[in-house]
Amino acid sequence: MNIGKVGVVGAGTMGNGIAQVFASSGFDVVMRDVGHPQLDRGLGSIQKSLGKFVEKGKLSLEDSETALGRITTTTSLSDMKDCDLVVEAIFENFDAKAAAFRELDALLRPEAILASNTSSIDITRLAAITGRADRFIGMHFFNPVPLMSLVEIIRGLATSDQTYSTIRDLAVKLGKTPVEVKDYPGFVSNRVLMPMINEAVFALFEGVASKEDIDTVMKLGMNHPMGPLTLADFIGLDVCLDILYVLYDGFKDPKYRPCPLLVKMVQAGKLGRKSGEGFYKY
Ligand code: NAD
Repeated sequence: MNIGKVGVVGAGTMGNGIAQVFASSGFDVVMRDVGHPQLDRGLGSIQKSLGKFVEKGKLSLEDSETALGRITTTTSLSDMKDCDLVVEAIFENFDAKAAAFRELDALLRPEAILASNTSSIDITRLAAITGRADRFIGMHFFNPVPLMSLVEIIRGLATSDQTYSTIRDLAVKLGKTPVEVKDYPGFVSNRVLMPMINEAVFALFEGVASKEDIDTVMKLGMNHPMGPLTLADFIGLDVCLDILYVLYDGFKDPKYRPCPLLVKMVQAGKLGRKSGEGFYKY
């Protein structure tokens, strides 16, 4: 299927990045959020990011303006009715996503594809609330979207081969590297990453080493660009905890039980960078 016009629902951290990469690759984009302040913030982030590409000589000023010109914004989902693909990037809540997908399913042409950027919600479960489970797929981008090359493409139980190959080819057109993943809790990225972060928190909790030393071991010993505790602060400790619960509930396996220290830090509002303090102060 030929994808020309793309809708992006949510203009937050991920949504504006996703809108930017589609527009930079020549697609017309409609970006939707609940209000104009959110849309203005999203567009501002896109302008800033494109500006950095121009500064570094990776993009001409003309191309950056053309990309920006391809993005229109709206507060109304009905402006997406002629989209060939809609990528959802609203906050991580099943009911909120389900409501948006129900509305989109009723609105879009039957052949249009629906995709979710969810980090942890079952694609199969989201697909089942629409009448197009075969044209429903996970497109899991990474933050910051314009810089990170990976896209996990998650096939729900009913996702058709045609939908999968359309989305895989599309990811390549965006300059990304797609990886095919089946729909199980945490997909691959979070299934591997979150237990590592959790184990680093356990090491701190049990007094095995200081936070700085735990991070140094993983940076210098494993060549990770940042240590797991720094990374947890960057992702948000609440987000890490939520994903660990998804793994724990999804597999019913105690190896995914969140470290009590992580739970306490979230209860205390120490969420990482976004709250000014997590394992480190910002
Ligand atoms: P965010 O909070 O930055 O942005 C969410 C945006 O969605 C907000 O602007 C909000 O106003 C908007 N929104 C809420 N309900 C809406 C609706 N019905 N219609 C349109 N807009 C609506 O969140 P984010 O970090 O961009 O995360 C979005 C999704 O991407 C989540 O599912 C998250 O799990 C996933 N994700 C996040 C990251 C990350 O590192 N932040 C990485 C990969 C995937």
